[in-house]
Amino acid sequence: MTLVDRVLLGPGPSNPYPEATAALAAPLLGHLDPVFLGILDETCERLRTVWGTDNRRTLPLSGTGSIGMEAAFANTVRAGDPVVVAVNGLFGERMCEVAGRYGATVIRVDHEWGDPVDVERVLAAHPAPRLVGAVHAETSTGVRSDLAALGAALRERGGDTLLLADCVTSLAGIEVAVDDWGVDLAYSGTQKCLGVAPGLAPFTMSERAWERRVEHPPTWYLDLGLIGDYVSGSAGGGRTYHHTAPVAMIASLHAALGRVLAEGLPSVFERHAAAGRRLQEGLVELGLDLFAAEGHRLPELTTVRVPADVDSAQVRRRLLDEYGIEIGAGAGKYASTVWRIGLMGHNARLDRAELVLAALRRVLG
Ligand code: PLP
Repeated sequence: MTLVDRVLLGPGPSNPYPEATAALAAPLLGHLDPVFLGILDETCERLRTVWGTDNRRTLPLSGTGSIGMEAAFANTVRAGDPVVVAVNGLFGERMCEVAGRYGATVIRVDHEWGDPVDVERVLAAHPAPRLVGAVHAETSTGVRSDLAALGAALRERGGDTLLLADCVTSLAGIEVAVDDWGVDLAYSGTQKCLGVAPGLAPFTMSERAWERRVEHPPTWYLDLGLIGDYVSGSAGGGRTYHHTAPVAMIASLHAALGRVLAEGLPSVFERHAAAGRRLQEGLVELGLDLFAAEGHRLPELTTVRVPADVDSAQVRRRLLDEYGIEIGAGAGKYASTVWRIGLMGHNARLDRAELVLAALRRVLG
C-alpha cells in the first residue's frame, strides 16, 4: 500500500500546518540535548500562551488526547472521591469511564446529545465534588459549552472542587482562557486545531490542583510529579530522565505553535470562525439540517444530518475516492445519521469550506 494525499476534513486528524510537517524532517536531537531542552522550554511557554495560563505545570504529554484525560484523573482522584461529569456526547462518556477506572464515584449529568452543558444542573448534582469534568468542544456533536460560566459558578460556590476541561477540539481554534475561567486541569490533542499530527497531549495544571494531587498515582507513566522532573527540572534543579520524550513530535508542535502565534490568536480564531460560518451557511443552502443546537455550534467542527434517503457511508466513500476528501461519520447512536466536517488548524480556510461544499453538491446530485 502506498500513502496518498488527502484533504482531512473529518473530526481529526486535520492536515498539519506545513511548518509542523517540515519540522518532522529536521535532524533528530537527543531528549537531553541542551538544544532540544531549549525547544521543549519554548514549547511549554508557547503552550502557556495558547492555554491562556501562567501555570508552571504546562507541558506536552506523550500520547494522544486521551492520555491527557487519563493523567488528569490519575493525578487528582482517590478511591471513592465524588466526581461530577457533564455528559453531552461521546467524550463526556469517556470521562465517566476513565474517572471510574481510577476509583471515582462518578455522578453523571446527562444532556441530550447536541445540547451544551447546563451549568445549573452540573452544580446541583453534588454540593462539594472533588472534581467537575466537562468537554469544551464536543467533537461527537459539534457543540461548544460555556466553560467560563461553569468556572465562575464553581468559584462563586467556593470549596475545593477542581474544574477539568477537555479542550481537545478547542485549543488554538476557539478561545480558551484557563486562568480567567478558573480551570484547574485541561488537556488537548495535537491533531485538531493545533495543526500537528496525532501523538501529543498538551496539558496544564493549576497550583491548586497540584496541591491537591495524588502523591503516588496508580500509574507510573502518567505520574505528573515524575514527568515534571524531566520537563521542568527536579527539586535539585537537574532534568532527570523519565521516559524518552518524542522529540520529533515536540519539535513539530513547537513549529506549529510558532506559526499560530506569529499569525496571532485573534486572527487564528477569526479564521476558524469565518471558515465554519461559510461551511454552515453552505450546508443550509444545500438543503441540509445542522445537528448542533443553534447558538452553540463550533466553527471548527460542524455536524449535519444525513438526509433520510441518502446512504451516509456511500457519500463519505465517494468523497474520499473521487475527491480525496475525508469527512467523518457521526458518533454513537448518530453514526449513520450525522456527518462531521472539520475545518481545523491549517484547514480552517474558506477555500476548504468551498471545496467540501462543491464536492458534496456533486455527490448528493
Ligand atoms: N476529547 C475530545 C473532545 C476528542 O475529540 C477526542 C478525540 O477525538 C478525545 C478526547 C480523545 O483524543 P485522542 O483520540 O487523541 O486520544
